[in-house]
Amino acid sequence: MSTGERIAEVKMRIARACARVGRDPSGVRLVAVSKYIDAARAREWVEAGLTDLGENRLQVAREKLEALGSGVTWHFIGHLQTNKVKAVIQHFAWLHSLDRPSLVDALARRFAEGPLEGPPLKVLAQVNVAGEEQKSGVAPEEVGDFLDYIQTKNRFSRWIMAGFMTMAPVVNDPEEVRGVFRELRQLRDRFVHHPVWRNRDKLELSMGMSRDFEVAVEEGATIVRLGRILLDNERTGPEAESNGERGVG
Ligand SMILES: *Cc1c(COP(=O)(O)O)cnc(C)c1O
Repeated sequence: MSTGERIAEVKMRIARACARVGRDPSGVRLVAVSKYIDAARAREWVEAGLTDLGENRLQVAREKLEALGSGVTWHFIGHLQTNKVKAVIQHFAWLHSLDRPSLVDALARRFAEGPLEGPPLKVLAQVNVAGEEQKSGVAPEEVGDFLDYIQTKNRFSRWIMAGFMTMAPVVNDPEEVRGVFRELRQLRDRFVHHPVWRNRDKLELSMGMSRDFEVAVEEGATIVRLGRILLDNERTGPEAESNGERGVG
């Protein structure tokens, strides 16, 4: 299968998942996770029609950021160290992984330093729904306090809180993680009136990866983050197997 065919197939599967639950497929944004591939191949993806690319480590992203630059909407999806905040703000349109108060502080500090070019950064609060020790994110029962904390720090001009993100545990049957996606949707519904949001009518749910995106879409994902499924099998080597879960930005 060519890259174009693989993209078409993934989009069709998203559309079918939407149809099963009466959703409009235009409400699901496909973020193609380019962490496994180099700049030349990422360019092929963009030429094949992908508009949004996701990276979980600044180091791995650099070459691609330089080569493809502003022609792409960049999503930072990995654990972000506070000393990399400045660089990430410069290059990325979205941050999916606001996962702890100290990162809130670092963002607030950076934005307080003065105006930056371009549209405001869209930020998602990462929730560790399944409570896995090796994963980042606030616990579901801490979400209210976390949003309150963000609210005290965010000036809302350069930085927009836009919704939630989660990563489901690795399982064989994606049905096993349906409850994780459902819980994130329920958290969104529960906190939809929190003052931290800019656009509460369209709160994002970034959830679903190659192995479970159809279930995530059925449960209301507005953003899916897909990597391996867009690669051809020969190129999915061991490094593709190492998922971003331990990646450090
Ligand atoms: C790598 C990664 C993905 C993509 O995972 P695939 O299984 O390759 O689709 C999605 N989200 C995050 C946070 C990642 O690190």
